[in-house]
Amino acid sequence: MSTLRFKAIEETFNRRSLNIEEEGRRSSIFGSNVFNESVMKQYLTKEAYSNVMDAIKTGAKINRTIADHISAGMKEWAINKGVTHYTHWFQPLTGATAEKHDAFFETIGEGLAIEKFGGGSLVQQEPDASSFPNGGIRNTFEARGYTAWDPTSPAFIWGTTLCIPTVFVSYTGEALDYKTPLLRALQAVDQAATDVAKYFDKNVTKVNATLGWEQEYFLIDSALAATRPDIQLAGRTLLGHSPAKGQQLDDHYFGSIPSRVLAYMRDLEIECMRLGIPVKTRHNEVAPNQFELAPIFEEANLAVDHNSLIMDVMNKVAERHHFVVLMHEKPFAGINGSGKHNNWSLGTDTGVNLLSPGKTPMKNLQFLTFFINTIKAVYENEELLRASIASASNDHRLGANEAPPAIISVFIGSQLTAVLDELEKVTSGKLSPQEKTDLKLNVVGKIPEILLDNTDRNRTSPFAFTGNKFEFRAVGSTANCANPMTVLNAIMAKQLKEFKVEVDKLIKSKKMKKDDAIFNVLREYIKQSKKIRFEGDGYGEAWEKEAAKRGLSNNRTTPEALKAQISKKAVQLYGDLGVMNKIEIEARHEIELEEYTMRVQIEGRVLGDIARNHVIPTAIRYQNILIKNVTGLKSIYGEDYQKHAKEQLDLIERVSTHIAVINSKVNAMIDARKVANKLDDLQQKAESYCNEVKPHFDEIRYHCDKLELLVDNELWPLTKYRELLFTR
Ligand code: ADP
Ligand code: MG
Repeated sequence: MSTLRFKAIEETFNRRSLNIEEEGRRSSIFGSNVFNESVMKQYLTKEAYSNVMDAIKTGAKINRTIADHISAGMKEWAINKGVTHYTHWFQPLTGATAEKHDAFFETIGEGLAIEKFGGGSLVQQEPDASSFPNGGIRNTFEARGYTAWDPTSPAFIWGTTLCIPTVFVSYTGEALDYKTPLLRALQAVDQAATDVAKYFDKNVTKVNATLGWEQEYFLIDSALAATRPDIQLAGRTLLGHSPAKGQQLDDHYFGSIPSRVLAYMRDLEIECMRLGIPVKTRHNEVAPNQFELAPIFEEANLAVDHNSLIMDVMNKVAERHHFVVLMHEKPFAGINGSGKHNNWSLGTDTGVNLLSPGKTPMKNLQFLTFFINTIKAVYENEELLRASIASASNDHRLGANEAPPAIISVFIGSQLTAVLDELEKVTSGKLSPQEKTDLKLNVVGKIPEILLDNTDRNRTSPFAFTGNKFEFRAVGSTANCANPMTVLNAIMAKQLKEFKVEVDKLIKSKKMKKDDAIFNVLREYIKQSKKIRFEGDGYGEAWEKEAAKRGLSNNRTTPEALKAQISKKAVQLYGDLGVMNKIEIEARHEIELEEYTMRVQIEGRVLGDIARNHVIPTAIRYQNILIKNVTGLKSIYGEDYQKHAKEQLDLIERVSTHIAVINSKVNAMIDARKVANKLDDLQQKAESYCNEVKPHFDEIRYHCDKLELLVDNELWPLTKYRELLFTR
């Protein structure tokens, strides 16, 4: 009997859901472990407080003396809460979060010690972080990188450690993390959007990008997960026959949440409350054992940090509940994968959502301005946007039939389509008073009521307008949102800058009124960006053909998609906006190509190992049982045995056939890996893994899965899909 699998299953029978105690109202514990504004007021001098607030709002520098005050206050607060260590918390280019803990504790001679945390330790640290991917930046320039405090994301306590969100840069200033370019892109979009928003309201002085992510994930019992080397090493199953029942009955989606899972969710939510992560929504997703978690949206940098943090917290809380969280985009074949929808908008410091229609025609013209500019930005940069979400794991999802396709398109719904169709007809040049009144009354003025009963809900579009925000749905569940958010905000910044130049030109040289000029530019944008708009179901061959005709890119694989990151156009865009220089861009590209190659390489190794060392030996054991049976029948029935051993003989043969195919396919895969490994060029290597190595996976899997169906259940060592997916 395959003991590990059955032991694990037995263990799951004894699981009980944990009893989660709420410590009073959620609102009362919200942010209790965050060094937020109100705590700062309490622990900082007036001067230090206003200095931090300036740094947050305007990016003002914090001098060393003030930094000492701030660190003293922070330390006091943290120690009162039982904290012993501090860490600079950052997001290196692995996509995960990194931390290196140092104690406050310091000796001062004469056998004495104190708790110390100076301004220097708050503002800057030099982790010996030479093992993080850096795409050659630190080899070429300076060996060391350092972390520097990002005051726009507040410090927080996790366990007994004070975590200080930081950027991670080389000594020559190149970004070695995801946060630095994001902050630069957010600054660029702030400037560009503020300038445009001033057309409509002179009082606007700052525009924040907002992000509300929706995190999908699977929960698998930890004992069961431990029996699967593929889940442990690759984060997904590389084989496994589909269970008789999957998601076809739609009985999981929004169904009642299993009690063990609910206990996990509540435990997680309480941790989130303390950390100031405003989680709000929880529900079952489409696939069995798939769930979703979503917060209230926040300023984009903070939201990105919160998503990175929560992915870590989710894993830690899961341990208490004997679950393993699978964040992978496609952990199981044949059922839905997981995404991380990025709901995005722009909000002014006067409290206006720029992608939300307003009450007056002028407010709606503002809405249309930002709405149409977004569509134009996506149209002009669809390939870069596609690149921002490319990864080995997301390749399994994009293009698979439940999810957004690899082709980027924008869905806006029939009602807004009609509005744009009207605006497209606006007269070129100055508008007559009659036309303007008509437009304002019947087109622009009609938007709010239109959107209220806009029930269009397209589920598959990779980029959809959903009433007061755009939803970038093609982002993968494992992704760090910083990457797609950097691209989206950067392309929007560029677009809005161009818009401003064009409008101002019409006002100056053609002596047009402001709204005339805006209508004129928007009309052209609507025409120019029409090809990116697609209202149908976002997948299938018909759409692929149509998209090709429209000239939209369809980069199905990561090695293909990533090329857009280093295109002339991208280098120019990032350079103009000061988001990244050429060195940073190329370094990132290298890292992502390498990461792709390594992921596929690991999967190949794991699959080879499972096929050779688990599946084939098991199949042989079963075959031996069959052979013994046949020999026994022969000794009883003599030559007549064939009549009684027909099925067994057939099984013996089929097992042999599958074993033979698996063996030859594994050999072929190993040979393909050897060829790929010899390639020095990173692009070629990634392509070779993609096109020559990976295709073997499905073939090997097919025959392993066939054996799973043939071999005695008692012998099968790998926990089966039905057990992984239906144990709660
Ligand atoms: P849906 O109908 O798409 O589920 P919700 O209102 O529930 O819409 O929002 C889904 C996500 O979008 C949530 O995380 C929410 O916080 C986020 N969201 C709502 N408004 C905005 C906004 N202005 N900017 C960014 N995200 C937003
Ligand atoms: Mg959604």
